[in-house]
Amino acid sequence: MTDIPRLIPTSMVRKFEYCPRLFYLEWVRSEFEDNPDTMHGRYNHRIVDAGGGRMGGPLDDDPAGRVRSVVISSERLGLIAKADLIEGSGGSVVPVEFKRSQPTHGPQWTPELAQLYAIGLILRDQGYTCTEGVLYFTKTRRRITNSFDDALMDKTEGMIRAMREVAALPIAPAPLVDSPKCAYCSLVGICLPDETNLHVERSSKRPRRLTPTDSAARPLYITEQGVKVGIQGGRVRVTRQDKEVLQVRAIDVSQISVYGNVQLSSQLMRAAFSREIPVCWFSYGGWFQGIAQGLPSKHVELRRRQAGIAAQAGLPVARRLVEGKIRNCRTFLRRNTRGDTGPVLPQLKRLADQAASAESVESLLGLEGTAARLYFGRFSGMLKNDDVGTFDVNGRNRRPPQDPVNCLLSYAYSLLAKDLTATVLGVGFDPYLGLYHRPRFGRPALALDLAEEFRPLIADSVVVSVINNGEIRSSGFIVRAQGVAMNQKARRSFLSAYERRLDHEITHPTYRYRITYRRVLEVQARMLGAYLLGEIPEYVPFMTR
Ligand code: SF4
Repeated sequence: MTDIPRLIPTSMVRKFEYCPRLFYLEWVRSEFEDNPDTMHGRYNHRIVDAGGGRMGGPLDDDPAGRVRSVVISSERLGLIAKADLIEGSGGSVVPVEFKRSQPTHGPQWTPELAQLYAIGLILRDQGYTCTEGVLYFTKTRRRITNSFDDALMDKTEGMIRAMREVAALPIAPAPLVDSPKCAYCSLVGICLPDETNLHVERSSKRPRRLTPTDSAARPLYITEQGVKVGIQGGRVRVTRQDKEVLQVRAIDVSQISVYGNVQLSSQLMRAAFSREIPVCWFSYGGWFQGIAQGLPSKHVELRRRQAGIAAQAGLPVARRLVEGKIRNCRTFLRRNTRGDTGPVLPQLKRLADQAASAESVESLLGLEGTAARLYFGRFSGMLKNDDVGTFDVNGRNRRPPQDPVNCLLSYAYSLLAKDLTATVLGVGFDPYLGLYHRPRFGRPALALDLAEEFRPLIADSVVVSVINNGEIRSSGFIVRAQGVAMNQKARRSFLSAYERRLDHEITHPTYRYRITYRRVLEVQARMLGAYLLGEIPEYVPFMTR
């Protein structure tokens, strides 16, 4: 309890009344996402936010004329408020809270009223006479006056005590079950109520597709050497020797990835941090080298549990990750191989079954290695363009890759690692603390863990499609004694094919709604978080059929 701040904002009373989990996610875990309602709410507040007026003492004849955006608090109640407007009326004060069109739910006691009562409690506690408050709905311009009822005042005080108890919990309260409120909740993509409830059998209904739609912003890749990237007037500008080569609106950029020698201005970095845009660095050859993403997440409990489970080798999760990867490899081979796959499919099935019950991480490594040899041994059977389709008979090779297919695979895996590193950082994990991959050599081990199930579905799939569609031909590679690399044109084609794959919609095999791969990465990372926090009994990998 001692760690909980002394004063709870009254806006949190509204959130708590809406949903205790929402209160916890926003206040305790400092999670915040905008949705149209929160953006409208901010816009509607612009008049009162400007401030104005002065509040007199409670014993003054006229304690308040019209005072806007005034901060009041009560140590006894443990509450603080930034009241939108306080009006004076015959020696007493009336708080007025600005809201959008209508109260959000409930016939009488709504979250908006709970907040208004909390403000009334503070004013009374400060010695003001305050017998009523007003909700002003800006869209409909309706004023609804509410007399402060003693029973509801007591209820509000009880709620404040309950809020402190919930805030002291190590994990968030369970999500609401099949509630219509979730559809309007800005944190639905973080909370994933229906998905969580499905895993703990709190609801038998099929999860609704409540995850927010993908933003229109997309990653910006800068592969040209020697350019400078800055920001000016809300636009990201790429220049070469002071001549502009590209500009794009900052709101259209979700991520910045730079390859090799590219200079970024500190103004751009600060703007990226404030807009939560990750900036990723790669070597010229495509090796993922680093990421910058503003301040680290405040979700300490998640990192604490991650560290605890990683220290115990994380076997239950590792089993599911490897099982998922092998099953997805099998499905991918089955769907794409031209001609006979031989005995490989049943062998992969057996290995996946064994992975599901493996007794140690070492045995998982063995099973994964065997599966990879079988899978890559058949990989060329999925390629139809002989122009590029040379593939080392021994399967994968890297650092540097020795043939065009391995070159494409390495590039795709580093892109996937980059996206999952940004995703796990956004969720609040430590990306270096893996549950299957050991934290060695500065690898983003947790991102690589999650990459396992997606390698065949995203990375390998892009490689096979760019070769088979003729998007990249043998002329797109530079072959040197040290290894094979893509030329600039081939890289651009590959990056665009990779982004297209992330935009591809697929039916989620567990939740049965359609969703892009881009969003699937986040949903899986959040469900892994739910497992580590003890909210769901197991992590279920994304496995296509
Ligand atoms: S999505 Fe639903 S359960 Fe989750 S925080 Fe929002 S209202 Fe609560």
